[in-house]
Amino acid sequence: MKVKEIDFKATPLVSIYGENCFDEKTIKTRVPKSIFKEFKKVQAGKQELTLEVAEVIANAMKDWAIEKGATHFTHWFQPLTGSTAEKHDSFIDPTAEGDVMMKFSGKELIKGEPDASSFPSGGLRATFEARGYTAWDTTSPAFLKDDNTGTTLYIPTAFVSYTGEALDKKVPLLRSMEAVEKQALRVLRVLGNETSQKISATVGAEQEYFLIEKDFFEQRLDLLQAGRTLFGAETAKGQELNDHYFGTIKERVADFMRELDFELWKLGVSSKTKHNEVAPNQFEIAPIFDTANVATDRNHVTMDTINKVASRHGLVALLHEKPFAAVNGSGKHNNWSLSTDDGINLLEPGDNPHDNAQFLLFLSAVVKAVDTYAPQLRLSAGSAGNDHRLGGHEAPPAIISIFLGDELEGVFKGVASEGAKHLEIGVDSLPKLPRDITDRNRTSPFAFTGNKFEFRMVGSSASISSCNIILNTVVAEVLSQFADKLEASSDINEAIKEIVAATYKEHGRVIFNGNGYSKEWVKEAERRGLPNLKSTAEALKYYNAPETVAVFEKHNVLVKAELDSRYNIYAEEYVNLINIEANVMLKMATQEIYPAANKYVADLAKTLNEVKASLGETELMETQKAHLVEVLENAKGLKEAAQKLRTTLKETKDIEDAGELALAFRQKVLPAMSTLRTYGDALELLVEKALWPFPTYEDMLFKL
Ligand code: ADP
Ligand code: MG
Repeated sequence: MKVKEIDFKATPLVSIYGENCFDEKTIKTRVPKSIFKEFKKVQAGKQELTLEVAEVIANAMKDWAIEKGATHFTHWFQPLTGSTAEKHDSFIDPTAEGDVMMKFSGKELIKGEPDASSFPSGGLRATFEARGYTAWDTTSPAFLKDDNTGTTLYIPTAFVSYTGEALDKKVPLLRSMEAVEKQALRVLRVLGNETSQKISATVGAEQEYFLIEKDFFEQRLDLLQAGRTLFGAETAKGQELNDHYFGTIKERVADFMRELDFELWKLGVSSKTKHNEVAPNQFEIAPIFDTANVATDRNHVTMDTINKVASRHGLVALLHEKPFAAVNGSGKHNNWSLSTDDGINLLEPGDNPHDNAQFLLFLSAVVKAVDTYAPQLRLSAGSAGNDHRLGGHEAPPAIISIFLGDELEGVFKGVASEGAKHLEIGVDSLPKLPRDITDRNRTSPFAFTGNKFEFRMVGSSASISSCNIILNTVVAEVLSQFADKLEASSDINEAIKEIVAATYKEHGRVIFNGNGYSKEWVKEAERRGLPNLKSTAEALKYYNAPETVAVFEKHNVLVKAELDSRYNIYAEEYVNLINIEANVMLKMATQEIYPAANKYVADLAKTLNEVKASLGETELMETQKAHLVEVLENAKGLKEAAQKLRTTLKETKDIEDAGELALAFRQKVLPAMSTLRTYGDALELLVEKALWPFPTYEDMLFKL
């Protein structure tokens, strides 16, 4: 059923939910019981996938897909640059009679060979041998994408080189999930839990975006090519009235959102919450959480679907972190926790002393991990786009801190204080922990929100895999330290208490419950010795810093060569993005703004001459002359700033080291762009509106 044919009001949600998702219940009804059992073991990581099982599943998947109109399949993956990648193959297979039949083998399901030599390998190998293969991620369900004219089967995969190196964002994510599971299980076992079999990192990603009129989008080279406005004077009315936030959703947007929900629900993506955000024409969508890899895949699907549905409504969705200056940018809140297969959320305060001890232990692990690896976590949210957000007024600063709330920090402090007898863990006298710790602090980059942590630094266009890879890996590391200690201890309660106390003493500095947006916090954080990596360019070096390599290698998530390659690729991507922006600015300044200013100058001069012709030279013309001069001065400034930007770009050409080049772009190119923008924006406010060559902020932010 195509969305356009849906009578939204008459269609019961349950009849369409998951209809395009090859989920567990669909598999169960379509393969023999024995195969299903085997497959479950494969998913749980207890068994290798055999060709026999793959063959049966592939056939069932193909039949299901074809019944729903699919003609093609694709191994869908997440390369290191851009969002997702896909290459489509049809199911056709020639017969001896010269016809075709529809075929899909187990081999084709398990492994794909995209000719993907153009994806960057970051020096892992030479381009000619950079090809890799895609391997089916059995834990993330396949799904169907409906377009106007056909349907394609999407198979979530990981992308690996022939020698086994990770070439994507999914391989390390899956490895990091295994790492944290392994260490968390060790801790649970010493605490006496023998029943939980699996632990998953769970993630819920809230997604922010803007919607603008498609016509406006297409008239702006900056939006078309860079995804954000590089010129644009501030609007008279901004977001100061907060009248958009949670405001009534306009009908046009509501229609878009409803269709978006339907599309996502059909795919089994549990879109749950939607509302207006702070900036004008800014919105948010949030799903129900899932395991980290499935949540990541589905966030990519959500971003894709937002774009697709927006287009059907004559709109364009902007997923860039900072599409407009002077109003809020867009982020992605990454809610993260650890849960067992028998329903225990390890970050949920319990009802009894045992559960509370467990909670405090896992909470301590996160606090220690986040403090120890703050630069890595900050880096995981770094990108050229997000640099415009972090440290601005609306986004958390680039300083990593944790919000626990006074009550919970009090409990922590209590355990850490000497002679705190009544806080002995494991005995009945432990005070009940506050269960409903609703988060009252929206300015913290890493907030405890009752039973999970919310990492708020991530950029709206980013893949959430990056931050979850880091989170899983560093928490795994700290849990392994805790497990070592607990396993060697003869008095578990005492050991837990020591761990919690030591964590508070040594890492309590990262806990901050105050206003993270205030200037005082920046000073206070410096006093506490917390790193403040203001830009991605400054943070990049942590990709392959010795402490990063050590923790990633220890937990088999990434090896040094893979981290080196990521460093190169991300540094290059950072530079490329800013370079594109600079070139777009030069075009807009030279081919659009300057000519508009000149046209206006000519109009003004003509008017002046006409006034002079009728009145003779008069003092009344002074304001006109002054205005003309102001336009001329800014046009000259624009020309000179453009020239300066060109020279600056040229000067970077000789820098070979990727990291140094990124720093040069940050320190020299961005300021030159900023100066150029100043003149462009000044001209916008001087030149007659009818002559302005592209839509203004007022047009884009208020008309829908
Ligand atoms: P807020 O806007 O207050 O941050 P939302 O309800 O919009 O809250 O988003 C909270 C997100 O956290 C949702 O995506 C939700 O599914 C997710 N979440 C809830 N529990 C967990 C959990 N245990 N692990 C990971 N994510 C969770
Ligand atoms: Mg949130």
